[in-house]
Amino acid sequence: MKIFNTKTQVVQWTTDAKYNGKQVGFVPTMGALHQGHLALVKRALRENDMVICSIFVNPLQFNNPTDLEKYPRDLDKDLQLLDSLNCDAVFCPEEKEMYPQLPDIVYDFGQIDNVMEGKFRPGHFNGVAIVVNELFNIVQANRAYFGQKDYQQLQIIRQLVAQQNIDIEIISCPIIRESDGLAMSSRNVRLTPEQRMQAPKIYHVLKQAREQYKQKPIGEIKLWVESQINSCELMQLEYFEIADARTLQPAGNPPPPKVIACIAVKFGQLRLIDNLFFN
Ligand code: AMP
Repeated sequence: MKIFNTKTQVVQWTTDAKYNGKQVGFVPTMGALHQGHLALVKRALRENDMVICSIFVNPLQFNNPTDLEKYPRDLDKDLQLLDSLNCDAVFCPEEKEMYPQLPDIVYDFGQIDNVMEGKFRPGHFNGVAIVVNELFNIVQANRAYFGQKDYQQLQIIRQLVAQQNIDIEIISCPIIRESDGLAMSSRNVRLTPEQRMQAPKIYHVLKQAREQYKQKPIGEIKLWVESQINSCELMQLEYFEIADARTLQPAGNPPPPKVIACIAVKFGQLRLIDNLFFN
């Protein structure tokens, strides 16, 4: 597996690959890889001739400095995992290489950015869009793979691609969960054993809310979810929304064709997100 630290090396690699008629798949990550990330890489390997993964903890998308500082990092293990899958290349730049000077681009994603993660993490999606746009420019892949775990991010990236006319196919991949239902996340390693025991409740509450959606008004379901999460000593609900899966605006009457429930839960300083389609 090729390991690149500079943009020039990646541009050279991808230019050669495309010159030789190869289809290139791209999996952007922030490292601390788990089976959720690896599922994206495996799918990319099945659907492309060559696959490159990036590992870069993007400071621009962290609205909370403690979260950035405590974000798990284990490059050696990540490289071993990617190598074991026969991933072709990995791009792991230093911050100075990625941003010789800090970009001050401001995107406008309209209403999708005003709710949930966009509302509770101001500037987060602007930072995501800056790094993803830059990575897309460097890698020039045919396809890029993203997880539905970050569903709002996926919708933002689709909008970025449309706004900027980027020639790339965005492939969305299902959420990979632990056997007890907890959505895999790099941040899960920061849970204490007690928090880890409570955390699967997030997914179980989502599934029960989906059952209730068939009969109960949304307002009632939201109150029920809030009481369920907040009754667990170590968890605090940040938001729970039942939304139109296309616009991410609150679902109303008549219900949108595709409905998704999204949740963010805080365990002290740490926060986890999850989501579930309701139909
Ligand atoms: P991250 O390293 O957290 O920025 O995630 C990199 C990519 O992996 C994003 O597209 C995420 O949505 C995806 N991802 C993270 N966790 C999961 C999961 N549990 N299942 C599927 N995809 C995931």
